[in-house]
Amino acid sequence: MTLTKPITIAVAGNPNSGKTTLFNTLTGSSQKVGNYPGVTVEKKEGYRKVGDLTLHFVDLPGTYSLTTFSQDEVVARDFILEQNPDLILDVIDSTNLERNLYLALQLIEIGKPLVIALNMQDIARQRGIVINAELLSERLGVPVVETIGQKKVSAVKLEKVLTQVVKGELNAKPKPIPYDDAIEPGIAELTSILHRDTQLNMNGLSRWVAMKLLEKDQKAQILISRAGSEKDAIQETVKRLCNQVENEQDEDMASLIAEGRYACASDLVRHTMRRESEHVTLTDRVDWLACHRIFGPVLVCLVVFATFSLTFQLSDGWAYVPWPGEWQTPCGVLGWFFDEFLTGIFVNLSDGPLKSLILDGAIAGVGGVLGFVPIIFFMFFLLAIIEDSGYIARISFILDRALRTFGLQGKSIMAMIVSGGIAGGCAVPGVMSTRTLGDPKDRITTMMVAPLMNCGAKVPVFAMLIAAFFAAHKGLMMMLLVILAWGVALSAAFVLRKTVARGPESPFVMELPPYHLPTFTSVFRSACQRSWSYMRKAFTIILAVSVVMWAMMYFPRNDASAFEGETEAATSAMVAETPSANLDLISDENLEDTLAFAALFSEARESEDSLNTLREQDPHRYASLSMAPASFTDSLTAYADQIAEIENNAAGAQLRQSVAGRIGLILEPLTKFAGFDWRDNIALTGGFAAKEIIVSTMGTAYSMGAVEPVEDVDENLAGNPLSRQLARDPGWNPLRAFALVVFVMFYAPCLVTTAVIWKESGHWKWAGFATAYSTIMAFTLAALVFQIGSLLGLGV
Ligand code: GDP
Ligand code: MG
Repeated sequence: MTLTKPITIAVAGNPNSGKTTLFNTLTGSSQKVGNYPGVTVEKKEGYRKVGDLTLHFVDLPGTYSLTTFSQDEVVARDFILEQNPDLILDVIDSTNLERNLYLALQLIEIGKPLVIALNMQDIARQRGIVINAELLSERLGVPVVETIGQKKVSAVKLEKVLTQVVKGELNAKPKPIPYDDAIEPGIAELTSILHRDTQLNMNGLSRWVAMKLLEKDQKAQILISRAGSEKDAIQETVKRLCNQVENEQDEDMASLIAEGRYACASDLVRHTMRRESEHVTLTDRVDWLACHRIFGPVLVCLVVFATFSLTFQLSDGWAYVPWPGEWQTPCGVLGWFFDEFLTGIFVNLSDGPLKSLILDGAIAGVGGVLGFVPIIFFMFFLLAIIEDSGYIARISFILDRALRTFGLQGKSIMAMIVSGGIAGGCAVPGVMSTRTLGDPKDRITTMMVAPLMNCGAKVPVFAMLIAAFFAAHKGLMMMLLVILAWGVALSAAFVLRKTVARGPESPFVMELPPYHLPTFTSVFRSACQRSWSYMRKAFTIILAVSVVMWAMMYFPRNDASAFEGETEAATSAMVAETPSANLDLISDENLEDTLAFAALFSEARESEDSLNTLREQDPHRYASLSMAPASFTDSLTAYADQIAEIENNAAGAQLRQSVAGRIGLILEPLTKFAGFDWRDNIALTGGFAAKEIIVSTMGTAYSMGAVEPVEDVDENLAGNPLSRQLARDPGWNPLRAFALVVFVMFYAPCLVTTAVIWKESGHWKWAGFATAYSTIMAFTLAALVFQIGSLLGLGV
């Protein structure tokens, strides 16, 4: 076997031209693709072996040109220029030839071997677009291959051409385009001076650098500052040529160069492309409606509403799974697994830290997150359909009209949608996708507001509270929450643009990719991948934080002797009243049994018959049971209640004086304005790390300091036990729930997002600012909701 150095192939091209799709087909990877621009913002690598050659593909972010305007363009350009790939594969969207050629011409100027893939051939043909690949190849001097991104045959065809080029069997040395007579001699002059300078070692890039210098490209200017003997000559020539052209043509050099490229691209299109028919495509017809000024937004609302209704119905309504005993919904199955099965295994451990750690820490934390997997899965499934069909680009197109007034540009929308603008996204890729924004002020503003969207981690909190207080209108409620998130995010952006991120607006033309039918496999795979990353989080960061939260709630232990004394006193009072025949059923040692008996007995008191039933159930235990006077059963029931209360008080007192409880209580005087009590504060504190923590910590806080035991099961409140508990808690009402939703929606980005903001903005101050401003804003809004609602008498 011969070991040869891998051949590096840079996959470049416009956004959404199918680079990642081809890359995946070529290398067998499964990088994220989506029918909208800005999916890939970082380069991804993959390999393919062909004979004794190893092809090393690098999937680059899409770019429209090779300026240093935005971060993703810089990634692409730096890779091509600095990593020195052996070959460039330029993926062109055949349905948009002219604009794609504009970039191709710039890649050609670099002078590296280049292969063009005329991708999206299937769509081009449907639209009656025919491109003469041979002629195009001849004009540009490079191989041109017609491809369909998802097709294996295309990959094989492409791979063959690429290997031929590598082996020198096929010529891929591009012919640079000649410019207008007014500038061409100048370019030639500058090129030769650059070539002369030995210290620069231009490596065949002289013409490219000359062009960039004339375009006043910053990076090229920095490069030249390292020049040797010709440094002065270079700078002087650049200045002279620019002045000369500007005087003669009354236009600056950079625009003249751009015009030259546009002219060349449109000339190529005129000669190599023809339209066989000018038929109105399905995309055009659908878009008439989808992008309509009035119907468009209505349709968006309908789609969002349908997405949520379906998500809830599929995960906990319509879909049933056969299960021992009864049919269960997917949510029901997971609820059963954590609340009954796993809890059942550990419930018999002796009371103590270990049992509490397992039940209240680990199972509550992991279960609290995993219990929502069905909702998350169906939501991602539906979202993948919206993404893959191309509709998501229409949503951003429609929102773009609204956004302009708020000082955000169209590309920001994509970042916000990725962060959860429609349903459960994640602010981490959202913040990262701001790299496609050129203007730094736009970037910062978008980074600051993207975490306000409803990411996947907030959805469980909303789902839990909606199930408890707005169960009749789940889908509608979620849609309102989406609108609320956008409303607040846009207003925040507006204010930020006027204050900390002031600057001019930058223009942007939104591109609408054609619709296509999403395939089941790609949608299913995307839903699985995202659900899996949600689940993986449960076993890592969520588990770790849950355990820390548990320890903060469990320690320090307080002195329980006072409550033990109360229990003893109550029990001896009860014993004194008990008829002697029943006496051995009441004992201090066996409190659990006594309470179970109390519950059974209060049911059985109605008649001798039911007493017999009780005797039959456990003849040994209840053999000597005699029918007692009504007064006895009453006091037995009262006794059971009294014990429950003592236990609750003990648990409550323990929680109150734990580390977490103390923090919660310290915050309570403030947070009560928004309706949050100290237990909510514990959960919300945990939520600073990750919002998933909120549901599980609330579950633990409410069960450790339970006010009321959970007993009757309301059939309408399927799923989460915490929902049932809150719904019955007299201290809770829809207003309080809504204020909590508002706070959770807007307060501090989670830890991971904060770290990403830090990294992407390049300064910790922005990360700190994001946390501070959003928390203050969230609290103000929640308090307003709660106070105004209370004034209106909604808080009952
Ligand atoms: P990138 O932004 O260039 O990486 O583009 P993607 O690979 O993410 O593809 C954009 C969209 O176009 C996705 O929805 C792909 O499924 C789709 N796509 C890619 N290549 C083709 C093709 O040749 N034909 C059709 N019909 N769709 C394609
Ligand atoms: Mg991509």
